[in-house]
Amino acid sequence: MGLYYCKRCGEVLFSAKDLVGHSNGRDQQSGTCTSLFTEPLDWVDAVGRNQGRIYCQRCTFCVGRFCWSGMPCSCGEWVRPAFQFHSARIEVRGVVKLVPKQH
Ligand SMILES: [Zn+2]
Ligand SMILES: [Zn+2]
Repeated sequence: MGLYYCKRCGEVLFSAKDLVGHSNGRDQQSGTCTSLFTEPLDWVDAVGRNQGRIYCQRCTFCVGRFCWSGMPCSCGEWVRPAFQFHSARIEVRGVVKLVPKQH
């Protein structure tokens, strides 16, 4: 099971089981997804707010953003609710590729 870490401090952010797929496999052909989307995460302070940034709990590095009403991925596909992490700001260990599995 892959784990995803803050690139700055190494804090665990989420695991591969939290990932949400969204593009019906199209991202694998075009390779345009620059973000990962997860289920709503307990540690993200997202209660009572429609949208905001997601900060690493340990070092407060901005690793992504969330929006309950949805956000488009870089591939054009909408994800709702969206808990979006920037691939460039997180690190993965334990899996081969930084590509979410389809549901
Ligand atoms: Zn961090
Ligand atoms: Zn995408």
